[in-house]
Amino acid sequence: MIITQKKPIEEVMALVGDAKTVAIVGCNSCATACQTGGEPQIKELAAILEQAGKKVVATTIADYCCMNLGVKAKMKPINAANPDCVICMSCGDGVQCVAKNAPTIPVYPSNNTMYLGEAVKFGVWEESCRFCGDCVLGQTGAVCPITQCAKSLVNGPCGGQKNGKCEVNPENPCAWIKIYERLEATGQLDKLSMRRKDKGYGDFAYPRTISLRGKK
Ligand code: SF4
Ligand code: SF4
Repeated sequence: MIITQKKPIEEVMALVGDAKTVAIVGCNSCATACQTGGEPQIKELAAILEQAGKKVVATTIADYCCMNLGVKAKMKPINAANPDCVICMSCGDGVQCVAKNAPTIPVYPSNNTMYLGEAVKFGVWEESCRFCGDCVLGQTGAVCPITQCAKSLVNGPCGGQKNGKCEVNPENPCAWIKIYERLEATGQLDKLSMRRKDKGYGDFAYPRTISLRGKK
């Protein structure tokens, strides 16, 4: 799931600025799980805005703020209320989708979008993927060197680990030890000597679009 964190409220209020009327759009998916954009957070933000003298003229929650069709329907009453601005409590993708469906209204994010993460237990999410577009998990024992190694090294360790911990952040295990152990446990140690293509991030042209229809 996409992991989001709330922006500091002062930052959100600065975005709202002089706007007198505000609408709030929440997201029933990842942001609800992260407690950054569900019903309770919508109510909480609405109360803060009202306390600050703003009028919350409409609120809604989309099943997925990143899905245009559902968002389109949810934005009808928001557009009808014609607020001075909309605050979207989703990931950055959702904010952009909401903005597309509010052509004349400024849309602001209330969250920072952090990463694609695994919910390891309730309220704890570990970073697991940074959408690098060239997945190497098949050669690294399903341990992602891009997110798990502080230097995102794809061809082996830097050599700085101490007692199995990363030299950059000793709270974390060295990713390459995890990769070694996993490859050993699954009988794939030969993959360690494979040369993986250095990540030439310059190769990626943004923005990218993926379409199952063969064209945009
Ligand atoms: S290598 Fe890591 S960052 Fe890249 S796609 Fe695979 S899991 Fe995601
Ligand atoms: S100590 Fe390990 S995890 Fe940390 S930067 Fe070096 S190789 Fe990566």
